[in-house]
Amino acid sequence: MSARRDEVASFPLYTQGALPTGDDVVKLSSNENPYPPLPSVVRVISEAAATINRYPDMGAVALRTALADRLRVDVSRIAVGTGSVEVAQQVIQAVAGPGDEVMFAWRSFEAYPIMTRIAGATPVPVPLTVDERHDFAAMKAAITPATKVIFVCSPNNPTGTTATTEEVEDLLASVPTDVVVVIDEAYIQFNRRADTVSGVDLAARYPNVVALHTFSKAYGLAGLRVGYAVAPPDLADDMRRVSLPFGVTDLAQKAAIASLRVDHELLERVDSVVAERARVREGLIALGWTIPDTQANLVWVRTGDDTARINAALRDAHVLVRAWDGEGLRITIGAPSENDRLLKAFASLS
Ligand SMILES: *Cc1c(COP(=O)(O)O)cnc(C)c1O
Repeated sequence: MSARRDEVASFPLYTQGALPTGDDVVKLSSNENPYPPLPSVVRVISEAAATINRYPDMGAVALRTALADRLRVDVSRIAVGTGSVEVAQQVIQAVAGPGDEVMFAWRSFEAYPIMTRIAGATPVPVPLTVDERHDFAAMKAAITPATKVIFVCSPNNPTGTTATTEEVEDLLASVPTDVVVVIDEAYIQFNRRADTVSGVDLAARYPNVVALHTFSKAYGLAGLRVGYAVAPPDLADDMRRVSLPFGVTDLAQKAAIASLRVDHELLERVDSVVAERARVREGLIALGWTIPDTQANLVWVRTGDDTARINAALRDAHVLVRAWDGEGLRITIGAPSENDRLLKAFASLS
């Protein structure tokens, strides 16, 4: 019998959205950007490939400096990782261990409970409200002396709902400053509501707020794995200490910098996804479904007990979405023709 850490076998496994198995499959299962990277970004990646015999800059200084300039924060406050999922893991590992609690809304990003267990800490999931939003009253009531990290996912994956500035400031007023409040803003570029919390703004004003951003969604670099946090400087230092050495590749660092330079072009694509989001949401509402106000590149359909059946019918129509049996379907907004296929498949459900 090999040595094992007993509890590992009981950790939930991260489930990837369904992968296509042939041509003519519409992949709306992983909240990816439907558009390929811009040619200028692909060029930078190809050029960087010529020096891939070298390790990357472990401090990611050029990328962190570009982000600090853009966000008008000190570079010491920027921590990077292999996607913001690793950056979230850095926060947990820097702050929480056995006996500590990590709180998040549920359902929310499925990596939170897994990363919490990996750190040996205890996940505290707090159910969403009936309108699929964070339940801040219940979250405040669930705070204990063991609470070390609270995640606020806004817009929330998988429901698309947002937290307001007022709600998060009210939460911050009820937690001691040694509790880290992480605002996970993976989808913030798709937000069009004025009352939505800004993690970067709050990180400038509170000593215990971390904002998480990624290049995977609006910036279309999911396959390269790069994300970052704006964090208090001492926590950002600790996050670097627990990070995977050389995790963020040179290709990823350079592609991220190149993407920041052309982000006006990337944000035009975001606008078209936002317009399509309204069309898909209205199309599903017209078919009788209740769809929460979504500010991410996705819609959430609470299909309940019918989830497995509807998911199978969509698969038969070669439309892949993310299904949680007994709960609902998370459908990523694709290109217009892909969304047409989705709406058509939904319209033909019996
Ligand atoms: C997609 C996503 C992330 C990060 O993805 P990376 O590819 O690891 O940057 C983080 N949080 C939420 C809520 C997400 O949906």
